[in-house]
Amino acid sequence: MEGEQVVRTEPCRSCGETKGIKISNVDYWDLKHTAIAKCITCGTAQLDPMLSEHETAKGCLAYYIEESLRSSVDEQKKNALRNFRRGVHFAYSIRKMKRNPIEILELGPGSGYFLQGIQFVFPQVKITVLDVNREVLDFNSAQHGYATIQATPEHTLDELKNRFDLIIARDIIEHVTDIGSVIKNVYAWLKPGGLFHFITPNGHEDAWRFYIRYKAKKETSELLINHVNYFDGNGLAEHLFREKFTEVDYYTYKLKTAFRGRGRKMKTKLMAPVSQKRNADFYITKKIGEVREIQLNKQDILNKWYLKPGRQNAARFICWYKHAEWIKVDPRINVGHEIYGVFEKK
Ligand SMILES: [Zn+2]
Repeated sequence: MEGEQVVRTEPCRSCGETKGIKISNVDYWDLKHTAIAKCITCGTAQLDPMLSEHETAKGCLAYYIEESLRSSVDEQKKNALRNFRRGVHFAYSIRKMKRNPIEILELGPGSGYFLQGIQFVFPQVKITVLDVNREVLDFNSAQHGYATIQATPEHTLDELKNRFDLIIARDIIEHVTDIGSVIKNVYAWLKPGGLFHFITPNGHEDAWRFYIRYKAKKETSELLINHVNYFDGNGLAEHLFREKFTEVDYYTYKLKTAFRGRGRKMKTKLMAPVSQKRNADFYITKKIGEVREIQLNKQDILNKWYLKPGRQNAARFICWYKHAEWIKVDPRINVGHEIYGVFEKK
């Protein structure tokens, strides 16, 4: 990505660099007009200026409501089952490495079914979930009985120090306003030898949509799904190494999108939509009541022959078959759709 080099209004939250390449103008709902700057040192692109904590909380709630209402109950059930199977697959992958986690923390747990999949493999785990959104926490506590913490992961929470064997952040780190303090916190909250597992979009491909609209038409894009960080595969790994993590598993997958031109081609159909300044308050005040009515029945969702007692081998095979990635590429070359990481606190 090329563009005008600017002095950022705030230093890079990953490496502290003050210079960036401006790659787009964006609107975050009707809450903030801002720009995306790509760091000239670590390659991570971020909103500049970044959102305030208040704006993030509001936008996240509006998005949660909008997304819940957009997806049918059927789709939500399918997603829950899919996340359960991914949890099973992930749990077996770490069991293979002789890991046996007891205390687990998930940041931004969504429906909580990924953790249910982990618990299927490790029945003795103790689960805590952290989210900024009370609705998400109440659902997780009522549906699964998890302990909950209402906070953003940037908050220093001393009571969590050295507590967890595993911390999970699936599709979360692209949403956090201060990635520097989040990675420091994850490190502090893990026990020595604990694992940090995340998935996050390939930032280059993700930011491409905004970049090409700005480059070709100078237009402001809608910041669709509240992403505020766009990670560079190399920059993200280097950041984790600086914070003393070591790499266990790190790859990207789903190359189809790159073949279609995302991250490479200046095509109109790949552009992010033009900003409509979507009204966050409308969802928060008018629509929230409709979300509360959605009920997911766990027995119903997990009513699959291979998830019945005594069928662990079948479950293991099916979850592997459906969710193992066949083609894995080094994230440092910034292709692929999503980055998968497992890092260890030594
Ligand atoms: Zn940087």
